[in-house]
Amino acid sequence: MKKIAVMTSGGDAPGMNAGIRAVTRTALSLGLEVVGIYRGYQGMIENDFIPLSHESVRNIIHRGGTFLKTARSDDFRTIEGRAQAAANLKAHGVEGLVVIGGDGSFTGAAALHDEHGVKVVGCPGTIDNDLFGTDYTIGYDTAVNTAVHAIDQIRDTAASHNRLFFVEVMGRDAGFIALRTGLASGAEAVLVPETTTYIEDLTAKLEKNWKMKKSSAIIIVAEGDDAGGAIEIAKKVNAKFEGWESKVTVLGHIQRGGSPTAFDRILASRMGHAAVLALLAGSTDVMIGQKNGEMVEVPFKQAVKHHETLSKHLLDLVEILS
Ligand code: ATP
Repeated sequence: MKKIAVMTSGGDAPGMNAGIRAVTRTALSLGLEVVGIYRGYQGMIENDFIPLSHESVRNIIHRGGTFLKTARSDDFRTIEGRAQAAANLKAHGVEGLVVIGGDGSFTGAAALHDEHGVKVVGCPGTIDNDLFGTDYTIGYDTAVNTAVHAIDQIRDTAASHNRLFFVEVMGRDAGFIALRTGLASGAEAVLVPETTTYIEDLTAKLEKNWKMKKSSAIIIVAEGDDAGGAIEIAKKVNAKFEGWESKVTVLGHIQRGGSPTAFDRILASRMGHAAVLALLAGSTDVMIGQKNGEMVEVPFKQAVKHHETLSKHLLDLVEILS
């Protein structure tokens, strides 16, 4: 293998830049040429390639977002789009591809492999942590830290005004961000898509806390909770509970941005490095994961099928400590 390409795809995540840097510098150190592809699969179809040198990835390890940009590409979902993308890779002499992205990006990568024999390895780059076969995805730790920082500030005002806050965090299908954010911020409850939310139980708990003369309460809601988002749940609770005045904060896209934590920079550096080694060793159609601190390879089709189980122990811990 003489030349590889690297790209970022799907939703952006802090640490993607550190991943691009690691792929580039690992490959260069092994005598390979490297090209970057702008705007994910759309850039691959539109031939938006750029040669990457040691200097191209200087001064980016600490930056959020992705300097190669990312995109969602409907064209790539078509057979013709993928054929054009594969033809462009071939024209550039690219023999191996590293995709940094989420489950959609890996489904696309698997199609590129199956239909055109492209050798491709993925690094999980998504704040949601919703891929199977890895304990952590790049960007997740930063997103949790951003949410915790925001909730610390909300708690100050909640306590000063004796208020109940419903704080919505990202997580359409997975409660990972909500759970860790809730534990780290000392939330009264965490509502996640993986478990059924009973409004009666929640209001009973709030009543109990209210009677204990707690000054405020914070409930963390994953956006995909079965009882609705934070706005809907607040309405349902307000109809039954007459304690603290309630407010809703939807954290939204601030969770995607910002300088990556040291954890995410190190994770991205290790995964980017491992992805290049995997390509050189002949692996393809796999995602690099981190399991029990070690780099592992997980077939794309397994990685995207479902996500890891949310820790029951940590969910219980929220209850015990609240
Ligand atoms: P995140 O988890 O942050 O949303 P993602 O990688 O899952 O990231 P998606 O928008 O789902 O983001 O996927 C990124 C791109 O991958 C899509 O825009 C599309 O081009 C390609 N893709 C997704 N699913 C498929 C599919 N079934 N077949 C071919 N390509 C796909």
